[in-house]
Amino acid sequence: MVADAGWTTARVVEQRTLAAGTFRLRLHCPEAAARITPGQFFMVRPHGGTDPLLGRPFALYDTIDGQDGSPESIGFVYHVIGKMTSLMSRWTGGEAVEFWGPLGNGFPVPRCRHLMYVGGGIGYTPSLAVAREALGQRAYGSPARSAEQAAERVTLYYGVQSAGQRADLTDLESIDGLTIRIATDDGSEGHPGLVTDLLRESLDGDDPPEAVYCCGPLPMMTAVGRICREADVDCWLSLETPMACGFGACFSCVTRVQTDDPDGWDYRRTCVEGPVFPAAQLVLD
Ligand SMILES: Cc1cc2nc3c(=O)[nH]c(=O)nc-3n(C[C@H](O)[C@H](O)[C@H](O)COP(=O)(O)OP(=O)(O)OC[C@H]3O[C@@H](n4cnc5c(N)ncnc54)[C@H](O)[C@@H]3O)c2cc1C
Repeated sequence: MVADAGWTTARVVEQRTLAAGTFRLRLHCPEAAARITPGQFFMVRPHGGTDPLLGRPFALYDTIDGQDGSPESIGFVYHVIGKMTSLMSRWTGGEAVEFWGPLGNGFPVPRCRHLMYVGGGIGYTPSLAVAREALGQRAYGSPARSAEQAAERVTLYYGVQSAGQRADLTDLESIDGLTIRIATDDGSEGHPGLVTDLLRESLDGDDPPEAVYCCGPLPMMTAVGRICREADVDCWLSLETPMACGFGACFSCVTRVQTDDPDGWDYRRTCVEGPVFPAAQLVLD
């Protein structure tokens, strides 16, 4: 889905630190907040300046209602990487920013009893809206979309390098029906090892998920996609391919998908045909 509004001006409502170098930012943008769905993204760039010139993509964390009960602002969580995110980390509230979205397709409406979200690093952030929607606790989009039947449970497997890097999970911990398990590469918290160990364990267990949503570093998503294929479980991957325009014009964010020909493949643009793709469709190598 391509946004039809183009660049608009939004205002920073609030910024909060969730971990070293990781921040939750809220932008006042009621029109986009009413339309956005879990897994969709938007572009952000400075207002009234050209450095950086191009917008940067960020995924929905959650929408926040205003006093009249309708969505008023959009929250997202970002990690400081380079020029734009360093600039953003200095915003304190009240700043005007350029905003374009919602963009991309987002995750499908969950239709299962037990949904799992596997998040690696900053890729955990879409899980908040995914879980709230799956559990029937919040509606997103206009018209509001909703699962025919709410999931009974959502499990979040969240993998980070070490305990010191993991984000404050207070927002997620307040969700009734969501179970969170953490894996750290260095064993400083939760499961010592890869988040994919937890996924394998769950798929072999008594209450395996019927669908898996995932976002994180590409090697992790490739592994999750392969594991789910072997287990014959529906899996959707949200790619974070670097992109320039965000609306399908520059083709800088293409990814390979399989075609009907057994050895055939073709390119798809992550920004408009994604960022969410069925793992079964992607060329995972
Ligand atoms: C659909 C989508 C959703 C995203 N959602 C989030 C989100 O919710 N939170 C978040 O923190 N980040 C998210 N990202 C990544 C985010 O867009 C980048 O971290 C951001 O653009 C960095 O901008 P910058 O100006 O700070 O860094 P730059 O100065 O542009 O880049 C610094 C360095 O990082 C590299 N780099 C930039 N972007 C990426 C990337 N996507 N993958 C690998 N290397 C990269 C550059 O090549 C460069 O070497 C998302 C990306 C996509 C495509």
